[in-house]
Amino acid sequence: MKRSYNIVELIRKKRDGKALTAEEIHHLITSYTKDELPDYQMSAFLMASFLNGLNDEESAAFTKEMLHSGQVLDLSEIPGVKVDKHSTGGVGDKVSVLLAPIVAAAGVPVPMISGRGLGHTGGTLDKLESITGFNVNLNLEQYRDVLARHNMVLIGQTEDIAPADKRMYALRDVTATVECIPLIAGSIMSKKLAEGIDALVLDVKFGDGAFMKTIEDARKLAEKLVSIGLEFKKDTIAYLTNMEQPLGNAIGNWLEIKESIDGLSGNGPDDLMEVTYLLSGTMIYQGKKADSIEEGIAVAKEMVSSGKALKKLRDIVEEQDGDVNLIDHPETYPKASVTKDLRANMDGCVTKLDAFACGLASLETGAGRRTKEDEIDPTTGIYLHKKVGDDVKKGDVLATLYAGSEEQMSQAVELLEKAFTFSETSVKAEKMVHARIDKDGFHEEK
Ligand code: URA
Repeated sequence: MKRSYNIVELIRKKRDGKALTAEEIHHLITSYTKDELPDYQMSAFLMASFLNGLNDEESAAFTKEMLHSGQVLDLSEIPGVKVDKHSTGGVGDKVSVLLAPIVAAAGVPVPMISGRGLGHTGGTLDKLESITGFNVNLNLEQYRDVLARHNMVLIGQTEDIAPADKRMYALRDVTATVECIPLIAGSIMSKKLAEGIDALVLDVKFGDGAFMKTIEDARKLAEKLVSIGLEFKKDTIAYLTNMEQPLGNAIGNWLEIKESIDGLSGNGPDDLMEVTYLLSGTMIYQGKKADSIEEGIAVAKEMVSSGKALKKLRDIVEEQDGDVNLIDHPETYPKASVTKDLRANMDGCVTKLDAFACGLASLETGAGRRTKEDEIDPTTGIYLHKKVGDDVKKGDVLATLYAGSEEQMSQAVELLEKAFTFSETSVKAEKMVHARIDKDGFHEEK
């Protein structure tokens, strides 16, 4: 006989710091998905979880219920170890655009379902859509077909994937319960596990421009994500990477695609390529096309130097209805309405470049949205000519801004000016990769 539950008792149990059983969590989430549990009770449960946390068993049960609230894709008929990557988000983070073709060119299938940017952070889907015609709205049959033929596919979230998370995320957004590590971990992992992957690499960012401001919080989130992945028998590896300053030089949708094309042509900025090669190399290793992460990195570099990765990007752009001329001739892309150089007003060394402020400045140019309904102008954004550790002379160009209007430009310039800090003494940029977390625990990177 099916047990019946008193929802108030379950909320009270969590409120009093006790752990719920998997069955109790099943009841809560399924009742909510079936509209049998109102938002106010789910909100109370979320706040109790926010305040008291969820242990590893509760997190796994929570993830499982959200995962099974929708379709869980089965890609087993496609040969090979399917590997995806997830980043917790940042400014100038275009790694997915480079990494998917590198890994696919190395023979590892990459079924990638990405999100949009919100607030100061960018999203892979918006970047891809800056390529005229690029279609991210494939149905699940097309998703499978493109993956089977190209070893990669780039699409957006569908209604069928983890619908309980969609509803709960919206509720968390308006009940101050977003910033909670077990809830974030369950939300991310339910969507990733639904993709039909065998393995996952996670880029958990810390710093001004990231969701997690400190290394300690990023580590806690990474450990939770890895523990959930392993619980679901997926080979899961996380890295803690620096997001104190933007990644690479370009911020803004087309500007980031252009920088990705440069990167795949062998001309990418060092920080961007370091993270890209590390994550791609790890995926190539997880996909069994290399015997170690180091060997995977060497394979990733070979995919770039041979031109195979750029060709893979071109093929997928063509397959998904994008204009391949833009990949061949990125210089032909339409220009933003207003362009302006921001210049240094003193000599010195750049000691800080606040990623959060850069993200907000880019949003002001027209490259981001404040609400889901806002339209993005793909030509807008910021190109940074100077970053932390660079010496500058008065009058040097620090950054070029591309905006949709004069008004947007003046607001963006005001914000970007505040992002730069100078000093007379030179500094070195912080290391990009702080640590790796895998089934054997925490490993600090040298
Ligand atoms: N990203 C997600 O997908 N979910 C969260 O809860 C936070 C960030």
